[in-house]
Amino acid sequence: MNTADGNSIRNILNSYSLTETKDWRKADIIFLVTCSIRQQAEDKVSGWGIKSQNKDFNDKTVILTGCMAQRYDRENNQISEKYKKTLLRKHPWITHIINIKEIDQLPKILNIDDSDQINTQSINYDINNKYQGLFSTSHGCDNFCSYCIVPYARGELINLPKKQILENINNFISNDGKIVTLLGQNVNSWEDESRNFIDLLKEVEKIDGEFWINFLSSHPKDFSNELIDLITTHEKFLKHCNIAVQSGSDRILNLMNRRYKAQTFIDICDQIKAKDPLFRITTDAIVGFPTETDDDFNKTINLVKKCEVEMVYIGKYSQRKGTVASKMTDNVSLSIKKKREKILRECVNEIRERKHKQLLNKSIPVLMIEPNKGISYYNHEVITEKKYKPGKIYNLEVNGYSRSGLKC
Ligand code: SAM
Ligand code: SF4
Repeated sequence: MNTADGNSIRNILNSYSLTETKDWRKADIIFLVTCSIRQQAEDKVSGWGIKSQNKDFNDKTVILTGCMAQRYDRENNQISEKYKKTLLRKHPWITHIINIKEIDQLPKILNIDDSDQINTQSINYDINNKYQGLFSTSHGCDNFCSYCIVPYARGELINLPKKQILENINNFISNDGKIVTLLGQNVNSWEDESRNFIDLLKEVEKIDGEFWINFLSSHPKDFSNELIDLITTHEKFLKHCNIAVQSGSDRILNLMNRRYKAQTFIDICDQIKAKDPLFRITTDAIVGFPTETDDDFNKTINLVKKCEVEMVYIGKYSQRKGTVASKMTDNVSLSIKKKREKILRECVNEIRERKHKQLLNKSIPVLMIEPNKGISYYNHEVITEKKYKPGKIYNLEVNGYSRSGLKC
C-alpha cells in the first residue's frame, strides 16, 4: 500500500515536471511515506530525522505522510489535530504533515502550481517496471483487530467506486500492463452498491488482453467458496494468494478479534489445494501476542506445516497505543518473540525450498519483466539463463531453485 501511495505522489510530481533523485541529500523536497504497524517503523523515521536534521536538511521541505502522519478521531470522523500538533512538536524537522487521502492537494501545498486539481487516481505503476500495476480498492479499515493501529491511522473503511478502479486497470492494460494487483487492507470484503469482490474480479477478468490478476491482503473470514472457485479455475488469476492467518491458536485468534477459527484457514487451503495442488499460499503471522504460550505458538507452526504455507510475513507483537490489545500486558519477552520468529522463519523456509524443488524439470508460464528476470504464474521470482523479451509470457522449464526463487 505504501508503494502504491508512493507511486501516486510520484505521478503527481512527475506531471509537474519535478525530477526524482535517489539521493535525498540532493532533493529539495523529501517525502516520508510511513508505516505505523510496529513501533520500530516509527522509531526508524524519528531516528532518521534526528540524525539528519542539523547537517543535511538546510532549507529542504520534509513531508510526512502515510500511517504515522495521522490518527483519526473516530467519534467525529476527522483527523486528530492534537496528534498532529504533538508530532510537529516532537519532530520539528518536519515541515508538512499530509493525509495521504488528500495527496491531490499537493501542488497547492507546495505552491508549485495554482491550476485545477489533477487526477491522482491515475495508474499506480510499480516502482521498477511498467508491467506490474498496484490498484487500491479501498482506504482504511473497520475490522478493529485488537492489535492493529490501521483503523485509527487510516480511518474508516472507504471502498473506491468500481468505475474508478476499472478505469485505472483498463488504462494500465492498454499501456502493456501485465500483472494487476488489487490492494486493500481486507481486499476480499470490497463492495460498491450491490457489487461484491467477486463481481469486481469478474469485470477485471473481462478486460481484453493477456494479463494476470492477484490481490492482497485477504482476510479468512471473507474468503468465500465462490472466490476459491474463481481463482483456482480461471486462467487470468495468478495461482498465489496471501491470506493473513495471524495465529494457529483459536484462543489467540479470539483475543485478536479476528472472527474466524484456525480451521477456517485450513479449510480454505484444503479447498484451494484440492483444485490446484501447485497453488501457492502465503500468510501474515504475529508472534508473541500477549499471553501466547509455547502451546499456542506450536499451533501456528502446525498450521503452517499442514497448509504448506510457503512464506510468512512475521511480525513480532508490538504494542500500539490506543488499540484494545494495548490494555493487555505485553508479557512475552523480546527474546521469546525473537526465538519464535526464528523457528517460524526456518519452518517456512524449509517448506518453500521443498516446494521449489518439486517444480524441477516442470514447465511453467513466466512473465518477463527484464531480459533475465520474470514472475511465474505462481508468483515466484524467476531468473533465466537466456534472455527473453520483457512484457511477454513464456513457458519455461525450471532447472534450478533457491530459497528465494526459481531458475529457468
Ligand atoms: N489487513 C491485513 C490483515 O487483515 O491481516 C494486514 C494488514 S497489516 C497492515 C499487516 C500485518 O502487520 C498484519 O497482518 C499483522 O501480521 C502485522 N501487524 C499488525 N499490527 C501489528 C502489531 N501491533 N504487532 C506486530 N505485527 C502487527
Ligand atoms: Fe488491521 Fe485487522 Fe484491519 Fe488488517 S483487518 S488492517 S489487521 S484491523
